[in-house]
Amino acid sequence: GLRIGVLALQGDFREHLRAAAESGAEGVSVRRPQELDGLDGLIIPGGESTAIDKLARAFGLAGPLRERIAGGLPVYGSCAGMILLASDIADPATDLSGAPQQTFGGLDMTVRRNAFGRQRESFETDLYFKGLEFSATDAGVAPVHAVFIRGPWVERVGPGVEILAQVEPADPEHASHTAGLPGAARIVAVRSGRLLATSFHPEVTGEKRVHELFIRMIRGEA
Ligand code: GLN
Repeated sequence: GLRIGVLALQGDFREHLRAAAESGAEGVSVRRPQELDGLDGLIIPGGESTAIDKLARAFGLAGPLRERIAGGLPVYGSCAGMILLASDIADPATDLSGAPQQTFGGLDMTVRRNAFGRQRESFETDLYFKGLEFSATDAGVAPVHAVFIRGPWVERVGPGVEILAQVEPADPEHASHTAGLPGAARIVAVRSGRLLATSFHPEVTGEKRVHELFIRMIRGEA
């Protein structure tokens, strides 16, 4: 079976460990650089991107992780994990010395943290998700039920970064009943090569198809 590491420094790594196991892989916690050895893929969980960044640097994981990602390790990042895979943050947090938060990079894109704003800090919606139309699961062609918890959106994608899902603009008449937003559609899932990122948290809803897609990507089947 596949061995999928879950970065277990902060955030909802337990939910991802369970989701990996439920999708047929072996999920293993990663806290130290040597735990990156022998992995078929890695998940970076939701949580707080500034905390995960700081801990990864303190544990000596940030450099090795950056190298593995650049070297082709398949990685899936949800929410804070999406931020940590981004090459650029539109509004990075700064620490007390004024230094901006860092990312591991890998995906040529700009993300905006906590992008959906106060009123939509947390919300749920159903999304069309490219590539999940032909899932083998009994969920079939159902849309992906997406839970957003102070999630980022993607403001720019570079060449080679494919958009997999967007939150559509609001229909003003139904704005209070949908997750649609005034203005433009917002990018909330992307892929480039074997890197996958979502603004939302499939690991908290029992939605298995995103993890299954990641496993197919690792196997070279998607
Ligand atoms: N707002 C968080 C951050 O900036 C992400 C929230 C989440 O992962 N649920 O890291």
